[in-house]
Amino acid sequence: MSTSTSTNRRHQVVVIGSGFGGLFGTKAMKRADVDVTMIAKTTHHLFQPLLYQVATGILSQGEIAPPTREILSDQKNANVLLGEVTNIDLERKLVTSQVLGRQTVTPYDSLIVAAGAGQSYFGNDQFAVHAPGMKSIDDALELRGRIFGAFELAELAESEEERQRLLTFVVVGAGPTGVEMAGQIAELAHHTLRKDFRRICTEEARVILLDAASQVLPPFGAKLGAATQRSLEKRGVEVRLGEMVTDLDERGLVVQAKGQDPQRIEAVTKVWAAGVQASPLGKMLAEQSGAPLDRAGRIGVNPDLTLPGHPDVFVVGDMIALDNLPGVAQVAIQTSKYAAKEIDRRLKNKPPQKPFKYFDKGSMATISKFSAVAMVGKLRITGVIAWLMWLVIHLVYLTGFKNRFTTLVKWTVTFLSNDRSERIATEQQIFARQALERLEHGAADLVTPPGEWNDIRAELEARAAEEARLTDEGERGMRREAATAGVGGGSDTNARISGA
Ligand SMILES: Cc1cc2nc3c(=O)[nH]c(=O)nc-3n(C[C@H](O)[C@H](O)[C@H](O)COP(=O)(O)OP(=O)(O)OC[C@H]3O[C@@H](n4cnc5c(N)ncnc54)[C@H](O)[C@@H]3O)c2cc1C
Repeated sequence: MSTSTSTNRRHQVVVIGSGFGGLFGTKAMKRADVDVTMIAKTTHHLFQPLLYQVATGILSQGEIAPPTREILSDQKNANVLLGEVTNIDLERKLVTSQVLGRQTVTPYDSLIVAAGAGQSYFGNDQFAVHAPGMKSIDDALELRGRIFGAFELAELAESEEERQRLLTFVVVGAGPTGVEMAGQIAELAHHTLRKDFRRICTEEARVILLDAASQVLPPFGAKLGAATQRSLEKRGVEVRLGEMVTDLDERGLVVQAKGQDPQRIEAVTKVWAAGVQASPLGKMLAEQSGAPLDRAGRIGVNPDLTLPGHPDVFVVGDMIALDNLPGVAQVAIQTSKYAAKEIDRRLKNKPPQKPFKYFDKGSMATISKFSAVAMVGKLRITGVIAWLMWLVIHLVYLTGFKNRFTTLVKWTVTFLSNDRSERIATEQQIFARQALERLEHGAADLVTPPGEWNDIRAELEARAAEEARLTDEGERGMRREAATAGVGGGSDTNARISGA
């Protein structure tokens, strides 16, 4: 175990997470008289709104996930630590993180918790095996592998039944992510892949978007929801509303509408975009502080975003339940900037800010190429104009000029030609998650614990010394018996060389 210590006595701020909340909070403290340690379980900042474009072959993962170390390289008061936070000790003000069996304990004076949210399967976590969510780069790459892989297997199918099962794609959840995924899979099948296969007609693929709710995109209101549904249907997506998934396996799923018999849909590829659950760190904080948790595991914070009874701990972004704030990037950005400013003001002995107030800049979702819906104040916009607005805003918020430039180039190619340059799909992309989950401690089971390296080092040193001796004493190329007789024991390396 290592303890991360400070090199001077400045106020120590620990930020958990490198998403919108973690990164923007850390950057907002650039000029504050503090040392910031950002601890996150990935080495990148993830621009989640474009994950679906990685999953459907438009962008590569690097374009939406720049390394946090590089982003913060010029911020001298910021330090980046890789690790999954496994414990927060509010009393002793310590954060414990782990990576591949290594444990680090980091003390803090102020803490910003921005660990976001994961996928929720509403108590049916077993569905995750066959219906990945859409929360991380791993998810997007796995889905990419599954989607493109399904077309490949359909080309090899031996029966019509199997071919149909492989060419049926079901997206569960008709929120923005589900709409975007369904729209993109339809575009792939009906346009991008049309000429690439010989035995199958990709245009016959069925893309189903289903939701237990009675409308598409409920937060966008009835009018935009209906417009989105029409637009999806025009693009060949079957929209099935009021239907709940009751079972799901490798080859399909069972859905049930209210008061009706369950119905099975044969479909190999399923995408789960139906629900979110706040990071389990919220529960940990709630247990120690007595703060309330809502059904999605989000923690009730004070109006100044502090944890009840712990003014030195701020919780921001997707993890909080406050004033019905939505789980969107702007909430994470604005809450984390507020927390960073409050820490700075306290150090300068300035009075506290007014309670946090969210400034809603609007919401948008793409449906397909040249088609989106947007809500800005009282304005409701659909079609190409909304799509252009979406394009510009996403480019502006992507981190880094390099990423903006390459994304713009890829978009130009994709939108003008229908081609997609990021169609790589490998077996590991599809199956590594399940293989890792079968290990008791995940990837940690595949590496040597740091303490055992000394034995390995001794062995490597002995091997290197023997190699050098063989060369220095001119024993290369000698028969094993001779070498053995001469030195009192030959090595495997020697035997291999003499036998060659
Ligand atoms: C597919 C998708 C599409 C979206 N589209 C939009 C959109 O179009 N517009 C919009 O405004 N919003 C969108 N959102 C929502 C938006 O991305 C989130 O609201 C936003 O990312 C929340 O920011 P956050 O910092 O709270 O959490 P996140 O951005 O999720 O960041 C959480 C961070 O914490 C880290 N972390 C988690 N647990 C631990 C741990 N135990 N230890 C260490 N690190 C940990 C994660 O690795 C990550 O770095 C979308 C979300 C998804 C999933």
